[in-house]
Amino acid sequence: MKIEVIEKDAINLRIAIRDVDVPLMNALRRIALAEVPSMAIDEVVMIENSAILQDEMIAHRLGLIPLRTDLDTYNLPEDCSCKSEFGCPQCRVTFTLNAESKEGTRTVYSGELISDNPNIVPVSDKIPIIKLAKGQKLNLEAYARLGKGKNHAKWQPVSVCAYKYFPKIEVPADKCPECQKCVDICPKRVYRIKEDKIEVKDLLACTLCMDCVEACPTEPKRVKVSWEKDAFILNIETNGVLPPERILQEATKILDTQLKEFEEKVGAE
Ligand SMILES: [Zn+2]
Repeated sequence: MKIEVIEKDAINLRIAIRDVDVPLMNALRRIALAEVPSMAIDEVVMIENSAILQDEMIAHRLGLIPLRTDLDTYNLPEDCSCKSEFGCPQCRVTFTLNAESKEGTRTVYSGELISDNPNIVPVSDKIPIIKLAKGQKLNLEAYARLGKGKNHAKWQPVSVCAYKYFPKIEVPADKCPECQKCVDICPKRVYRIKEDKIEVKDLLACTLCMDCVEACPTEPKRVKVSWEKDAFILNIETNGVLPPERILQEATKILDTQLKEFEEKVGAE
């Protein structure tokens, strides 16, 4: 297997993977979406709520705030040795929120949540939770736990996790004077004209939509678009809870564990 990083920053990772097949790529994609744990608020104790939204609505909104996750310190509640319904410091983070509007209407933002662990905080301080009118109060305690995307989308660590075949494009080597329809129609601007010749400018942008092939008026078609059977481009975009490369690492670890478990069960029968 060959892996090449095409693009990488704090929330985005785009890699080319060669010598793999669709089942493996799909397993990684599904595990990243549904099995890699992340932190989210799971329980809220309302102490005072005189705001216009019901307790349930506020709890739901709090649950959807992405929280920076630390997979090395915290355990999944079901795997934690405390076996407690309320959790322990190894499987739970407590947030408090005490907001009040003394003058006029104001918005309460995620940055006002106070965490008992300074490393587990909302990814952004600017997520609106509720608006308070003059005299209204919101006082609550919220508990965050690790969880999995398969149980609730709030625990999904990625906003995008998708793969596509590695595109393969052949353009005419000689001048193609007929038209430039393939260049103009491409929605991803893959082609460009250089000295009257068609050139592939951005191969990786190709989504294999085949618009360029259809647009070509000559028979046989002068542009040929296909894909490599065992090469893929994987794109992971996180919502900020974990770095994208960590999500991929965790996904491969989980796949490995699942395969070992499967092997043991098959062997035991
Ligand atoms: Zn615990």
